[in-house]
Amino acid sequence: MKCYICAQMGKSTDAVAICIICGMGTCMEHTIRREVDVWEGGYPFPAKKLPKKIPRMLCPDCNASYKEG
Ligand SMILES: [Zn+2]
Ligand SMILES: [Zn+2]
Repeated sequence: MKCYICAQMGKSTDAVAICIICGMGTCMEHTIRREVDVWEGGYPFPAKKLPKKIPRMLCPDCNASYKEG
């Protein structure tokens, strides 16, 4: 798979990760690794926050949306 963003710019770079939201392949330069809080929800208890953060791979577009949301 090639990096989608590089491909848009006419470059051909191998993708090293896949965005967990949109599934776009991204190269090292275009991959954003975010530490996301993990919430465990379970009826009838309110969601509780797990002590760990899980790193997730996002493309720049989804990272931007994620910040806004
Ligand atoms: Zn790229
Ligand atoms: Zn994405």
